Amino acid sequence: MSGLAPTVDLPIRKATPGCDDIPVLRERGQREVFCGLTGIVWLHRKIQDAFFLVVGSRTCAHLVQSAAGVMIFAEPRFATAIIDDRDLAGIADVNEELDRVVSQLIARRPDIKLLFLVGSCPSEVIKIDLKRASERLSQLNQPRVRVLHYSGSGIETTFTQGEDACLAALVPEMPAAAAASDGGLIVVGCLADVVEDQFIRIFGELGVGPLQFLPPRRAGELPEIGPDTRYILAQPFLTETARALEERGAVRIAAPFPLGIEGTLAWFEAAAEPFGVTAATVARVTAPAVARAKRAIAHYRPMLDGKSIFFFPDSQLEIPLARFLSRELGMRLTEVGTPYLHRGHLADELALLPDGIVLSEGQDVDRQLDRCRDASPDIVVCGLGLANPLEAVGITTKWSIELLFTPIQGFDQAGDLAELFARPLNRRTRLEV
Ligand code: SF4
Repeated sequence: MSGLAPTVDLPIRKATPGCDDIPVLRERGQREVFCGLTGIVWLHRKIQDAFFLVVGSRTCAHLVQSAAGVMIFAEPRFATAIIDDRDLAGIADVNEELDRVVSQLIARRPDIKLLFLVGSCPSEVIKIDLKRASERLSQLNQPRVRVLHYSGSGIETTFTQGEDACLAALVPEMPAAAAASDGGLIVVGCLADVVEDQFIRIFGELGVGPLQFLPPRRAGELPEIGPDTRYILAQPFLTETARALEERGAVRIAAPFPLGIEGTLAWFEAAAEPFGVTAATVARVTAPAVARAKRAIAHYRPMLDGKSIFFFPDSQLEIPLARFLSRELGMRLTEVGTPYLHRGHLADELALLPDGIVLSEGQDVDRQLDRCRDASPDIVVCGLGLANPLEAVGITTKWSIELLFTPIQGFDQAGDLAELFARPLNRRTRLEV
């Protein structure tokens, strides 16, 4: 993409009445981000009977394979149907080929209950109609396997949007709640099982429910949804999923995201409030977990307090992370970059950011690298493509993708989250001694 001049200053209205607006530096230019296929790596671990078939090129196959390299010994639940030169000559052949590949796959893998056809840049460029293909294949394989589709293409998207597209594809499949249902709560966004188990325990003690998760661990356990259903986002990058849930009548509970003690506590308070549970009850139930988290964070605070941090836009987790690192660990925020800024979903987070930071949306990577060098931060959060060049000039980096592969949400992970930033700084200090 060619670089365009940046435009400055779309004010964001803070959620707290009376607070200032934060100006946003909006940039459009060359970007350094992974595509949505990357999401397959954590999605396939979460939905344990789903299979992800990328319809793409050899490049797509290599990306997924290397991103998921750690899973090499596991029974794979992802693969790539390679579009080759012959396919490019005739779309009809591609559909036949796809049907053949899917039939073979389903015959070989009786454990698969849900198959995602995942679009890529090549499949979008040559306009393979994956919607029709998934409908056709679903009919052919019913009731054993449901076939859905979504796009993981890297055209104008960033890597966490793969999860958003995947979850949005699940929403129309969610069963309608019974008319007499008392609504319940859906927690939306992929969470590590260990985090989900902790959340289930806390919600159970609070008496909040029925509690359901999107995505579920098994394809047959999709949450029920209806006009009385409330949902709360556990991840900040689920714009399309939220829209689809609201089209089905569900109502979003606004909250900060469950990162760090403050975010997690506020998240539980917000989730529990519509169920008649007071903040005092949430504080009592979560007190032991909060105390543990405080001890864990206190260990890392001396290593991070006063250190400066710069976020390149990548995962869309940047704003909640910046809030946690500045408010609970005393880090100084220089620039906080995010690929996209959803003002509604991030309103409670924006209200907690300190004054005087640069908030940027989108990317013009050369300009941003200049600003980063000028700011000379102690640590930079960025994608893999930028990490090596920055490390080569002596800047400590943290790969943003690690934050998706590591359990970081909730009280009991707050210390681990702090450690993810303390460790590289600590290593650099030891190397310099
Ligand atoms: Fe590359 Fe696009 Fe394939 Fe992603 S989907 S690996 S960006 S070609």
